[in-house]
Amino acid sequence: MTGTIYLLHFTQPYKHARHYLGWTTDLDARLAEHQTGHGARLLAVVKAAGIGWTLARTWTGPRARERALKRQGGASRRCPLCGVRPRLGHR
Ligand SMILES: [Zn+2]
Repeated sequence: MTGTIYLLHFTQPYKHARHYLGWTTDLDARLAEHQTGHGARLLAVVKAAGIGWTLARTWTGPRARERALKRQGGASRRCPLCGVRPRLGHR
């Protein structure tokens, strides 16, 4: 089954977490669910800490691809929001 793999980038780090990677067949519904604090324990505690998030990137694929991405780690290397950093003296 093909769905959407999505990477959420937190506006501030929560402990060591800066991202949440998930998989869904209905991204809009899933994101709305996260906004209400349901569906993912990590996002519930992040929200309770007053931290928000941005949808940084999506992929299309099966749930197995989400698991593979999670296993590989390195979410910040895949995150366009983390990749863009001001480089002083190099404009
Ligand atoms: Zn990021």
